[in-house]
Amino acid sequence: MFTQDTIAAISTPLGEGGIGIVRLSGKDSIEVVERIFTSPKKRVLRDAGSYRLVFGYIHDPSTGEKIDEVLITVMRSPHSYTREDIVEINCHSGMVTLRGILELVLKEGTRLADPGEFTKRAFINGRVDLSQAEAVLDLIRSKTDESRRIAMEQLQGGLSERIITLRDKLKDLCALVEAYIDFPEEEIEIDSRDEIATSIEEIMKELQKLLKTYDESKFFREGLSTAIVGRPNVGKSSLLNALLQRDRAIVTALPGTTRDVIEEFLNINGLPLRIMDTAGIRDVQNAVEKEGVKRSLQSIENADIVVAVFDRSEPLQNEDFEILEKIKNKKSIIIMNKCDLPAASDKSAIASNLSPCTLHILDISALTGAGLEELKNRIFTSSLKDWREEKEGVLVTNLRHKIAIENAEASLGRALSGFGENKPLEIIALELRDSLDRLGEIVGAVTTEDILDSIFKNFCIGK
Ligand code: GDP
Repeated sequence: MFTQDTIAAISTPLGEGGIGIVRLSGKDSIEVVERIFTSPKKRVLRDAGSYRLVFGYIHDPSTGEKIDEVLITVMRSPHSYTREDIVEINCHSGMVTLRGILELVLKEGTRLADPGEFTKRAFINGRVDLSQAEAVLDLIRSKTDESRRIAMEQLQGGLSERIITLRDKLKDLCALVEAYIDFPEEEIEIDSRDEIATSIEEIMKELQKLLKTYDESKFFREGLSTAIVGRPNVGKSSLLNALLQRDRAIVTALPGTTRDVIEEFLNINGLPLRIMDTAGIRDVQNAVEKEGVKRSLQSIENADIVVAVFDRSEPLQNEDFEILEKIKNKKSIIIMNKCDLPAASDKSAIASNLSPCTLHILDISALTGAGLEELKNRIFTSSLKDWREEKEGVLVTNLRHKIAIENAEASLGRALSGFGENKPLEIIALELRDSLDRLGEIVGAVTTEDILDSIFKNFCIGK
């Protein structure tokens, strides 16, 4: 179990700060750091108590030069994050110091950790299951208190427990069905038949319940993707700026997948709103204006909710109607902007073009801020319908888990109908086993290198 090589990485963000940490995990951790560490009190790390801090200096063994004044923590196997020996070097956080210390430990015989490798080892060594390992990443990435809470629940094993209970039920069911395969001369009694069918149905219902929580909660993790659309000059970028400015809790602005797509997060009472294609919104003046509209239309496709902006101070134009047409099947909020100016557009024309998906029509002014609070409240309540009441209990928030549960549920469905059609029990058993395996993927009871790679490559190095 603990035969892997020793890895090292900088575990804190690279930059200036009070403290930075270089972390090592593996059987040689203590020995490696021992070679570059001196303690004024002549303390040696191999005798240091687990979770005690030892003060001293990191030096370069080839020159004897002191690199930094540090505190070292030794966490001995198996009571550590990875269940291996871990040493953390708490040094001063500066790029040169952190990198210098990392280079020394690499030179002394460790390997630079892959992204997420510490957590991967925690999984491989059985300290956490796979869904808990994923929760670590969710926790690091959470944008709001609410998504942090969901991740914590998963980290503490909430989802795992549910899955394990369901797997136990499935295992019993498999055993029952397989017993009849092993003793073909036994006829399945009517009672047992009913029992098997009922059990399958019950587990399916549980899985369906879990699946429902995915749709209800995924935006807390990923953000509710929001498209702000409208023809040029109606006030989209003013609205965006007003929302961002007035809300101190903008979390981040990060480049999206393509260079010109930028996403910004807005925090509305704990709900992360991911505003899509803000570059598209802001560029309209500079870029060819038509292109801007085209992009607006594209971003509608991918949005969970659309905020369609119209200029109330002007008569409606063809492009406005085009947009109304395009958002017909989308959950949307209609904004009549520039309500600080006299109204010129006919609201009833918009009202008569509305679809049942339109949630509200609001008068606002991006310039004065009138109506902005109401807009935020509307976005919040319309997205969180029933959320507050239902969020007790376990939530599925991860796409990988959702797919596994869907597959497990589908296998059970086939088992059930096969059973009803008197198909050979071997086939029923196969489906039940498949369902068991699919659920096993969630907690990592059944896993492949591909699954692991795709999960851990998303982590940062050092976690
Ligand atoms: P976009 O092309 O849709 O992004 O529109 P902008 O946000 O660039 O706004 C176009 C023009 O309308 C700018 O001159 C804004 O100052 C002005 N504008 C935007 N919102 C309002 C508003 O609520 N009231 C008034 N009076 N002007 C606004």
